[in-house]
Amino acid sequence: MKKSMALICAAVITLAGCSEADVTPNSEQSGNDSQFITPTDPGDNTGDKSSEPTDENITVSADEPLVINDDITCKEGNEIRIEKGGTLTLGGDLDLSGDLYVEGKLIIEEDATISGPGILHVVNSFDDIDCKGTVTAKIDAPEPVEVDGVTYVGGVLLVNKEYSLPREFGTDIGDIRPELKQAIEQMRADTGFGMTLRASSGYRSYATQEWWFNYYCETDGYENAITYSALPGHSEHQSGYAADITRTELDYADTEEGKWLAANCYKYGCIIRYPADKVDITGYIYEPWHIRYLGKSTAKLVHDSGLCLEEFLEVD
Ligand SMILES: [Zn+2]
Repeated sequence: MKKSMALICAAVITLAGCSEADVTPNSEQSGNDSQFITPTDPGDNTGDKSSEPTDENITVSADEPLVINDDITCKEGNEIRIEKGGTLTLGGDLDLSGDLYVEGKLIIEEDATISGPGILHVVNSFDDIDCKGTVTAKIDAPEPVEVDGVTYVGGVLLVNKEYSLPREFGTDIGDIRPELKQAIEQMRADTGFGMTLRASSGYRSYATQEWWFNYYCETDGYENAITYSALPGHSEHQSGYAADITRTELDYADTEEGKWLAANCYKYGCIIRYPADKVDITGYIYEPWHIRYLGKSTAKLVHDSGLCLEEFLEVD
């Protein structure tokens, strides 16, 4: 334990680009007369822990939560690993060129960022991340897992043209999920839109979707219907995590409310599920009214990634 703690301390100090030489001006190592903090030169390594080269790995174990408020760097070829049961809290910026493996809990504070060409690997669940900051580094999602006919990626329920829900799924709830309902109510409370901002369509059972899809096919033809209506079992509305807000017309995007929804719904845990520039991937036309609840942290990650859910979960 001591060794890993020492490594962590060394890593924290040196990864922050701040060697002991910088802290102690009288040190022999402060040959650099610049007052600015400079990265430690590996060649200057004298064995002192705090002046070790910056290419250290960091392991956060279950019995040692770690809080890093300094800016740190994880170089290419190095890794930060949060083991199961461990917690890493980042309060500063992480310049990630290596790999960050999240098996435990990762807390990204409000002003913290994770950026760079490295990869943040979500090993088990997106619920292991509490992101209040900003992640622009690539996020590697776990493989899809099927439980009772329902597909989850890192704990995120996935339903789309490829992945479906069983016929009976959701019938026991028969409504949108309480967390989505609460998110919509909070949006309404925080804005001046009042009751116009509402779920015009929420939960939809398999049977209801079947009826609507058949209706659209009869009135509009299958080829058209499939671009805006889901096959039964393939509607996100059946999950209870989706809602159509206010009205399902394209010009909703140009309204004050539609613009606000697009810009802010992630703060309430939702995403615009079928963006205008992702039609080829989602298989659905732009639906500025259709929101999907993911929870605040995951919604922020998806929002900041600029990806649609299929791309974010790497199932496109
Ligand atoms: Zn919808």
